[in-house]
Amino acid sequence: MEKQEIDFKSIIENLNEAVAAVDYDNKIVYANKYFCSLFNTGCEILCGKNIYEFLPEKQDTTVIKDCSYKIIKYDDAYFSYYYLSVANSQMEKIYSDFISTVSHELRTPLTSIRGFADTMLMSFDKLDKAQIQKFLTIIKEQSNRLIKLVENLLSISKIQVQHSNLVFKSVNAKALIEQVAEILKNQYPTHPFEIKSSLEVPNVLVDESKFQQIMINLMDNAAKYSYEKGSITISIDNAAKDNFVSIKVKDHGVGIEPENMSKIFEKFTRIENHLTRKTQGSGLGLYIVKDLIEKMGGQIFVESSTELPNSGSVFEVLLPVASYTSQSKKKLEDK
Ligand code: ADP
Repeated sequence: MEKQEIDFKSIIENLNEAVAAVDYDNKIVYANKYFCSLFNTGCEILCGKNIYEFLPEKQDTTVIKDCSYKIIKYDDAYFSYYYLSVANSQMEKIYSDFISTVSHELRTPLTSIRGFADTMLMSFDKLDKAQIQKFLTIIKEQSNRLIKLVENLLSISKIQVQHSNLVFKSVNAKALIEQVAEILKNQYPTHPFEIKSSLEVPNVLVDESKFQQIMINLMDNAAKYSYEKGSITISIDNAAKDNFVSIKVKDHGVGIEPENMSKIFEKFTRIENHLTRKTQGSGLGLYIVKDLIEKMGGQIFVESSTELPNSGSVFEVLLPVASYTSQSKKKLEDK
């Protein structure tokens, strides 16, 4: 019996969930390491305090907001266990961020499409050709925005279920990037896109449509977070690292503060800058970019500065060359 009790305690102490035991007056008699770490204090400080100073009021249901509540009987003593369900609260946050981002991102273009379509229907005879063209262009741009959002959402739902059907093939990076630049030049007519490639860059081994999605997201960001006329240069070279091609997307935009560098790749994260309020975005682009690059056996790096005006950012992507051995290719396909 003695031995069982020791094992039981050490399991609870090392659980990756917050566990506290209280007496009949709801005073804490024990809190495990995880529980203490959540409140940044030690068990001796917590002991004797009322559990409800730390947790929401007990309710009749078994689930109290983020906490599930359970009483078990052990060796003639009653222990109340409170599981602060961290996973649950994180999921709830992701879910509510998702709903608010997606509803905003859907509502804005849809409102604009409906508004311009209504104006055209009601005043068609009074509008001149230039006005009609302007309205139709807006409708087309807003529809493209919706398509991009839906594509990004489909990508994250695939990421979440860990199911991605990548079809690897040998692709000429320069030719694909030129196609992407043509699409973006229409969207950002005031931004010059320049593509530089050293001679003899080998093809990359990638999923072509995913590679296109990566380049659209990176080049779109480069234009979005730069002021008008800010040039965007895409350089394609043999990487210093063997068997990789390096693609650098350089802009002269607002840049990223050092403390935000790691956050930009998080899901639904938009960083405040002079242009985020004016521009559209769901905070999904870089999350998807990083995930896809890594699934294709590549890497992404960022260098950025906000010290000088328009010093901008460089996003460097390393992708494996197509002459990869079949063994390495198989490893990638298995991912
Ligand atoms: P979105 O553009 O939809 O906000 P992303 O995931 O593509 O989402 O980017 C996340 C954040 O990273 C952006 O909100 C922006 O603050 C920052 N960011 C991305 N690319 C750049 C860039 N080229 N220059 C400056 N900031 C950038």
